[in-house]
Amino acid sequence: MAGNEWIGREERDLVMDVMDRGSVFFRYGFDERRKNIFRVREFEQKFASYLGCGHGQAVTSGSTALRAALGALNIGRGDEVIVPCFTFVATFEAVIESGATPIVAEIDETLNIDPADIEKRITKKTKAIIPVHMLGVAADMNAIMEIARKHNLTVIEDTAQACGSTYFGKKLGTIGSMGTFSFDYVKTLTCGEGGIVVTNNKRLYERAAQFADHGHMHDTSVPRGLDPKEIYGFNLRMNELNAAIGLAQLEKLDRMIARQRENKGKLKTALSDIKGFSFRRQNDPEGDGGDTLVVSFKTPEKAKRFSDAVAAAKVPTKILPDALGWHFFANWPQIISRIPKYKNRKPESLFPRSRKILSRCVAFPISLEMPNLDQMAQNLRRLALEACKV
Ligand SMILES: *Cc1c(COP(=O)(O)O)cnc(C)c1O
Repeated sequence: MAGNEWIGREERDLVMDVMDRGSVFFRYGFDERRKNIFRVREFEQKFASYLGCGHGQAVTSGSTALRAALGALNIGRGDEVIVPCFTFVATFEAVIESGATPIVAEIDETLNIDPADIEKRITKKTKAIIPVHMLGVAADMNAIMEIARKHNLTVIEDTAQACGSTYFGKKLGTIGSMGTFSFDYVKTLTCGEGGIVVTNNKRLYERAAQFADHGHMHDTSVPRGLDPKEIYGFNLRMNELNAAIGLAQLEKLDRMIARQRENKGKLKTALSDIKGFSFRRQNDPEGDGGDTLVVSFKTPEKAKRFSDAVAAAKVPTKILPDALGWHFFANWPQIISRIPKYKNRKPESLFPRSRKILSRCVAFPISLEMPNLDQMAQNLRRLALEACKV
């Protein structure tokens, strides 16, 4: 849940400030009327610096951040991009929108893309890998970067679900050539709607900025109408109101993550002696942003028994199993039908290994405010012991 739980005075004041300062919502120009304050630009700089990263280009969503990254890298028709079968559908949509073909890889017990499976899917057409850091936890970036170096591929980290999480001390989104984030209403940091693409490569940043604004090169010595263009683009611009909310949220981000980690820690401690399930495997548990607790049973049947009992007790779950339809490639006929390699396959036959891993898991959302956390832990404990007994 995160950011949307703590929207308050700070967000309101910054939004009202934009209104009071001439109500300029456009991110470029109108310098005098807006008193030379540019909130989108400020948000980009502060967010990039929060990550310890050189550049950020704010856009309208996490979906368009992925699209801008692909545009900046000139990835399109004829190219292949490797993506995990467990992600949000937007990762696939962005690749398809670019004209490139998504090539789908298995996940492993970490619930993130399986590096060993990536290598099997590389062809002459492969240009990039998009690891997705699912549910707050890093993909195996050391292994992925190694494969990318060996095969001369670009890595774009889809960090929509792991804002502020780290991998051996480095903020996620800053390890690959480019990283993308979503600030939609249910993400850790929310702008209402929004996203950003970050990079340490100045040239890639310039191209992302151009792609996000119809190819404009933003030469401030000429009027916008005469601004030169070198690449194709589209309009993915964030506006000042969304950036104002983002700036207020950014001030709270570290506290939000600390609170999530604290709540998740309490829940894990309360469940730690249960033998029938294990917690999700992580390469760097220290870096977990803490917004989700995933438990994994030995068999899908036990997980099903547990999740049915959890649903009956009205304890909310997150993605696994309830929203798997949105997050597993084999459940997306609208995407499968657009990829020649998969379009004639039966959905049940797609990615059985990953499906099995996912069907053994149940996931719980961790919120900032969990006044009934102890009660929830007790409930889960009882239900888990029952589900494991049979
Ligand atoms: C939310 C999400 C996106 C898309 O972000 P929007 O801002 O909603 O467009 C992309 N990838 C993943 C993994 C997501 O969870």
